Formats: sequence, structure tokens, C-alpha cells
Amino acid sequence: MQFEQSPQDVLARLDELREADAPTSGGRLLSYVYDSGIAELDDLAGAAARKAQPLNGLDPTTFPSVAALERDLVALARSVLADGVDGVVGSVTSGGTESCMLAVKSARDTWRAVTGREDRPTLVIGSTAHAAFIKAAHYLDLRLRVLPVDPDTCRLRPDDVAAALDDSVALVVASTPSYPHGALDPITEIAEVCAAQGVPVHVDGCIGAWVLPWWPGADTRPLWDLRVPGVASLSVDLHKYGYAPKGVSVLLYRDRDRHRRQWFATSAWPGYAVVNPTMLGSRTVMPIAAGWAVSKALGGNGFDELTGRIARSAAHLRAVIDDIDGLRIVGDPVGPLLAVATDTSIPEDRRVDPHRWADAARELGWVLQPQPGRTQSDGTVLPRTTHLTLTPVTEAVADDLATAVTKAADAVRGVPGAVAPEDFIAAADHIRPEDLTSENCAAVLTLAGLDPTAGLGGSMADLLALIEALPEPVAERLLIEFLARFME
Ligand SMILES: *Cc1c(COP(=O)(O)O)cnc(C)c1O
Repeated sequence: MQFEQSPQDVLARLDELREADAPTSGGRLLSYVYDSGIAELDDLAGAAARKAQPLNGLDPTTFPSVAALERDLVALARSVLADGVDGVVGSVTSGGTESCMLAVKSARDTWRAVTGREDRPTLVIGSTAHAAFIKAAHYLDLRLRVLPVDPDTCRLRPDDVAAALDDSVALVVASTPSYPHGALDPITEIAEVCAAQGVPVHVDGCIGAWVLPWWPGADTRPLWDLRVPGVASLSVDLHKYGYAPKGVSVLLYRDRDRHRRQWFATSAWPGYAVVNPTMLGSRTVMPIAAGWAVSKALGGNGFDELTGRIARSAAHLRAVIDDIDGLRIVGDPVGPLLAVATDTSIPEDRRVDPHRWADAARELGWVLQPQPGRTQSDGTVLPRTTHLTLTPVTEAVADDLATAVTKAADAVRGVPGAVAPEDFIAAADHIRPEDLTSENCAAVLTLAGLDPTAGLGGSMADLLALIEALPEPVAERLLIEFLARFME
């Protein structure tokens, strides 16, 4: 076979393209990637994925290895997250979003089956629940009820949940922990008030459920997994703290019938029988094999050791940030996620805006994740923050990270945060939905000084200020336009 381009050239081009990426290993990117810091483990994941490369997860009866890998992963998750609970079953999905969406689909269809109603049930979430649940309500056509969280602890309050329950509620979601602030919702109390009304709870452990079982002090904290009565389902992503490449998550259910309502089957076409546990048809087994291999190799002791590294880094970094004048850690996070906000208890000239801080850290080669401030439905405000996801590799760079975040704060102390231009926001208030065409949106982005073809460059502060200030539908449409034009 004569290739048009040699494999070496093709791969060289890929290397070249990859050079523009944020650094995926080495600990300087504190979101998106979960770096164990162990090259041998990455090699193992790659080798396992390679072996699964030709498989199609569409049909585990033709490829029984797929069933075996998934069965092993579900069994492992069950042993860690449902110890001693009978009858727990589950599926392997392509990621956290799919796990969350399927948990909602199962709850919707269970609600319909049980009530005999065909209208839209309600999905109750806290304002800090992952956006995947907003997406689920959108795709699956549920009414969404977003409860404010306690603005100090960023935790969902059981009393608020209790007050939100009625016969339209198909599911309540709580997080262990939430992505934005790393706050642990009080699962036992929430599950108790829900159980009293017969409403199921989904525990979103996408990010936390594969570290919290090994986090120091785990035995002394209240239960939050499937051992809690009233918790109907739980999601955990192996492509986060399971150190697998992207594309693998586990979704567990207490009850077989709930699990089965996640599935889709149809015999109403002339082709092969379609029986899908998850959303995709043909699907990759590569990340599943990789996640399986990594978890087999590490075992409980391996996860314990890696989690210990993260916990030490988290304690160290918290102490460093506590010492930085002008910044504060939001709430009392337990686990690998930190959100940092301005310390507003001190005079303005000593305050540090978290987005300016992230921009300054970026200049020093560290990529932190700015998050917008938000006013909740009860009028309380969740301040703008910058998020850090810590991983085992963080420990190896802890001192450099401490120096960088301290220097970054020194560089922007007293500099006010970005605000969206007033005339721009006033004009945006008059934008009608039919004005939000691709062309108009592109013009608005240019007006705002944002050039999609250039990407975001170094500064996120201005974009985040716009997101905070614009009406949601306008902000959302502009974000779509920005990214779509960037991709084009
Ligand atoms: C990451 C995450 C999700 C969504 O997961 P994806 O894998 O990005 O689709 C859901 N919930 C929480 C708490 C998460 O951290």
C-alpha cells in the first residue's frame, strides 16, 4: 500500500498540533486532566486501550471481553461505594455527562411508570450541581428546579430540599463534592427528607467518589454513597481520579428496575436488535480497557497512596492561599478541589480578584480555571472564583505552585476585577431571540473586543465579566458563537 503521507509524517504533524495545547502532564494545568504522575501507569493505559482498539462495545455478546471488563468495573465500584448493599447493579458509560443524563432518564421513566403520568416531571438540583444536569433536563425535557445553596458553605440545605418536594419531583441531585467549590452536600440528611416523600436521590460522585473513600478521615465523615438509604443511584468517573483516558464512567443503581429504565431497546426496524445500555450505538472500548487496567494495577492500596499525595498537596496549598493577603478559600472543601475568591473583609487596595489572579498565574505558566460569580434565586451571591483541581502530580510541583500563586497575587493585588462595559450590557438587554443569528452574534463579539479566531489568549477575566453581566440566553448564544467560530 502506497500512503499519500508517511505514518511518520502524519504523527509528526500531530505532535506539532499538540504543541499548542496546555501541558497535559507535569501539574501545571489544574483542571481537565488527572495526572497520576506515574508514566508507567499511562503506558499501561495506552497498551490496554490499544488491545481494545478493534472492538465495538455495541454488542457484548459478540465480544464477551467487553461484558467482562464492564462487569469488573461495576463490581469494583460496588465494592468501594456500596459495601454490603445487596442488589446494586450498574453500567459503564462514556463519561460523567452521560452517567448524569442516564440517571435522569431512568428517574424520568420510573416516575412515569409509577405515577402513570405523561407530563414533565421535575428535576431538583442545587445551584452548584454540575451543568450536566441542566443539560439532562434540556435534552430529556424535565422541568428544572434549581435550589440556592448556603452562600457561605456552598452546600445544599436539606430543609430547602424538603420544601421543594412534591409529587412532580422525579429526582433530587446532590454532589460529593460539587465541581465549582468542592463542597460536600449533606447526603444523609438530604436522602432522609427525600425518602420520607418517596423521592429518589442521585449522588453525583463523578469527580469525588474515586478519591473520597481514600481521603484522610474518610471513616469519620458521614456516609454519602449507596450505603445511605434513599440514595437510588450514584455516578463516578474513572476518567478523573481513576486515571483513565477520557471516555469512562460508572453509574450504579440500588435497584434493577431503575437500572433497566436507563436502557433503550427497539425491535421496530429491519436491522439487528438494538439493545443499548447507554446513549451511543457503536462505541469505543479503549478507555474502558484502559480504566480497567489502571484500576487492576493500582488496587485499593494504589488509590490510597495516590489519594494521600493529593491530600497532602491540598493541605499545603490551602495553607499557602490562607497566607495570601486578599484571597480566601470558599467554604470548607474536603477533597481535591479548591475554589478561591476575593477576601472582601479587608480594604480594597489589598484585595485580589480571582480572575486577575488566574490571568497572572497563566503568565507564569500555570493554568487555573476562572468561574463566574452568580446571583442565586434567593438573591444571595456566589462570588466569582478561580478553581483548582489537584492531582497526585501536584505534590511534585507543590513548591513551584506555591511560589507562582503567591507571585501572581502580588502582581494583581489592588487591581479591580473586570467589569463588562455598561453600554454594552445595556444594549444586550434589548437583544431579542430572533436577533441572535450567527452573523449578529459574531458582530457583537467583535464589539466586545473578543476575536474567536484568536482564541482566548491569556486573559479570561474580560470574557467571564461578560458572562456574569449578560442575560443568560444572550451569554449562552454568544458562547456558542465564540467556540463555533474558533473551531471553524
Ligand atoms: C466532571 C463532572 C461531571 C461531568 O463529567 P464529564 O466527564 O465532564 O462529562 C459531572 N459531575 C461532576 C461533579 C463533575 O466533576
